[in-house]
Amino acid sequence: MTLLGTGDTTGTPTVGCDCDTCERARDRDLERTRFSVYVANERTDESLLIDFSPDFRSQFLREDVLLPDAGIVTHVHFDHLDGLGNAFRVFDALPVYAANETDPETGRSVAETVREDYHYLETLDVRPTTPFEPARICGFDVTLVPVDHPPLLCYGLAIEDPETGAKLSVSGDTSYAVPERSRDVLADPDLLLADAIVPAHLCEYHPIGGRHEDEDGVPRTFGTKHMTREGALALAENLEADRTRLVHVAHYYPADEAFEEPLAVDGEEYVL
Ligand SMILES: [Zn+2]
Ligand SMILES: [Zn+2]
Ligand SMILES: [Zn+2]
Repeated sequence: MTLLGTGDTTGTPTVGCDCDTCERARDRDLERTRFSVYVANERTDESLLIDFSPDFRSQFLREDVLLPDAGIVTHVHFDHLDGLGNAFRVFDALPVYAANETDPETGRSVAETVREDYHYLETLDVRPTTPFEPARICGFDVTLVPVDHPPLLCYGLAIEDPETGAKLSVSGDTSYAVPERSRDVLADPDLLLADAIVPAHLCEYHPIGGRHEDEDGVPRTFGTKHMTREGALALAENLEADRTRLVHVAHYYPADEAFEEPLAVDGEEYVL
């Protein structure tokens, strides 16, 4: 598994930003581009892409990995979907899996939005997928689970190798209010990738602050849409993850916290 993109919607460094965190990233030649994860199955020689980052092209050139055999779209925000245009003239065929539940906010499912927004991609084969029902993709059992990313529907996912039992769980963009039934599917991963957009102490700068406080009053959700670092770590503990990397990380982390463990940077590779 390769972390192609570990940043939030503006990435780090952020264009036009000279904050200490962006400067340190430039100095150390580190990047957090927009979110995307590449999962290769060595057994079947196939690979699966989670989310189509606007940085798709530079990510694939940088990591020098093969084009994926299939993709998944977790939700329809820019930073997870709008890289799909990069598929134009690049793929002969590209199955893309996305949830089939109608989002009251858009009146369409994620699968329908993908199909309509990219109707000009003739190689695209959108596969509407039922949450909580495992789908066999690239030799893995992949299960989409609803998370909490208002106002849009968004999904986390569990990817398991049916032969080895290896398991990767991805929180998706979510607040700490991940439903219990979804937690049950995500539980006990070898590796968890968890949305941790900012540290909890930055909640005071959000117009509506933090939510889902722990017993010490520390907010586990930043605003309404994303987990804090503390929330992501609490989720990891709750899911009993063997290993956790924090992703969807914003440049708002103070420079002395932004590159500390277990915050991920682009290019990290893991074998499960
Ligand atoms: Zn910055
Ligand atoms: Zn989002
Ligand atoms: Zn996002």
